[in-house]
Amino acid sequence: MLPLQCQAVPAKRVISMNDDVGALQGELHGWLEATWDPRMTLGEWWRQLAESGWGYAHFPADRFGKGVQPAAAGMLSRAIQTFGAVPPPGGFATAMAAPTLIDHGTDDQIRRWLPGLLTGADAFCQLFSEPNAGSDLAGLQCRAEHDGDTWVVNGQKVWTSSAQIANKAMLVARTNVEVPKHAGISYFFIDVRQPGVEIRPLRELTGRAVFNEVFFTDARIPAEDLIGGEGNGWAVANTTLAYERGRRSTGGVSSWASPGPLAGDLERPAGAFTGIRSVAPDFPAPTTAKRLAAVARALGRSSDPVLRQRLARLYSLEQAFALTGQRARDLGAAGGELAGLPNLTKMWSSHLYRESRAVTFDVLGQRGALFGYDESDAEVIEALTGIDGFAELVEVALFAAAPPIYGGSDQIQRNIVGERVLGLAREPGDDRKVPFKDLPKNS
Ligand SMILES: Cc1cc2nc3c(=O)[nH]c(=O)nc-3n(C[C@H](O)[C@H](O)[C@H](O)COP(=O)(O)OP(=O)(O)OC[C@H]3O[C@@H](n4cnc5c(N)ncnc54)[C@H](O)[C@@H]3O)c2cc1C
Repeated sequence: MLPLQCQAVPAKRVISMNDDVGALQGELHGWLEATWDPRMTLGEWWRQLAESGWGYAHFPADRFGKGVQPAAAGMLSRAIQTFGAVPPPGGFATAMAAPTLIDHGTDDQIRRWLPGLLTGADAFCQLFSEPNAGSDLAGLQCRAEHDGDTWVVNGQKVWTSSAQIANKAMLVARTNVEVPKHAGISYFFIDVRQPGVEIRPLRELTGRAVFNEVFFTDARIPAEDLIGGEGNGWAVANTTLAYERGRRSTGGVSSWASPGPLAGDLERPAGAFTGIRSVAPDFPAPTTAKRLAAVARALGRSSDPVLRQRLARLYSLEQAFALTGQRARDLGAAGGELAGLPNLTKMWSSHLYRESRAVTFDVLGQRGALFGYDESDAEVIEALTGIDGFAELVEVALFAAAPPIYGGSDQIQRNIVGERVLGLAREPGDDRKVPFKDLPKNS
């Protein structure tokens, strides 16, 4: 275990987990009884949920929240689901763009952008990685240049998840090549449904196209959509990445319906989106030891001693991961924070996916080589193997290659913990002193 430092941070309104959450849940229940109607459109329901403050209760009271601690907000979101209503929208807009905007946006930007982010009216994607700037994100080359009261963007992004249903995006672009690379980056909110933006899907191992290439040719951004000030994009992007890795995580639930005007869910009745779907459309959770144990039993393999050991090990890892999350939420509720915990949590999660993949293929044996790339093939294979949800099991296992890479690879998480938490020496190099234009480039 790494020696983490416990840092005191100013607490907001600290919830007593025994008393106040119960009172809040009662208040929420009353509001749901008076408001929830499965016949209203999903868009209307999400609007009411956001405006009531119950959808994102950990946000400040004047920012669509109730100012409670993240753990309490997580419980409230689960209470919405338990009641039988649709929980708030998830995805890039609510988990990353909204808290980044609250931390770095001006009052005017928050007033203009936050409602669309939290009501599900807008769907966001994250335009950070480029063909030559992934781990070395600060080496990005996509340019944004002043032209009167707009910025003009040219360049390319890649691995952009959910861009195919996004209408807006968080973009980091180079606005100054005369200064060292970290200092010449700016952060924008951009409309990606404009003539200068082309989105091309990339098919991956699972057969789906979760992510995309995005090309900019003289795309335009109004000057007032620069977030956090010119040249301050590295700090703002790091805020987004910290939220992506779990900063102030509520441990709550969000809806499996898709936000934004392009997915088509907003116009449908909210009642079509109640209940729990086991696999999220974009980022499935690792298959659990309990589910795999049931499959092992169905295949008559549950007395195999080696397999039993592996299942028990996976179960223990899941419990340790859940308890670590609970520990972080309890500490957060008491006003504390563990430096580096988001990075360690991200690595834990990657490890769980890898272990879950290994045990899945152990349990399935040779059957694990079968995968249907369309629905009819998947049905044939499920009938042949006689295992319920077979396609989903293999798909999640194939997807396990992704978490150790996205949001910063495992190696990069280790570098961050080494440099920023343990105070070890930075990687050698003078890229923090030399102007970006004079640095060697990959292309
Ligand atoms: C499923 C998925 C979804 C994604 N979604 C998005 C998205 O929505 N938006 C977005 O902007 N990006 C997205 N990404 C991109 C992701 O952030 C990058 O893939 C990631 O940052 C790694 O960059 P890279 O692929 O260029 O690999 P590279 O940076 O080229 O790294 C290659 C290998 O070298 C290692 N390495 C590189 N530098 C170092 C170093 N200094 N020290 C030690 N090891 C190092 C890496 O760990 C890795 O193993 C997604 C990726 C995946 C897999």
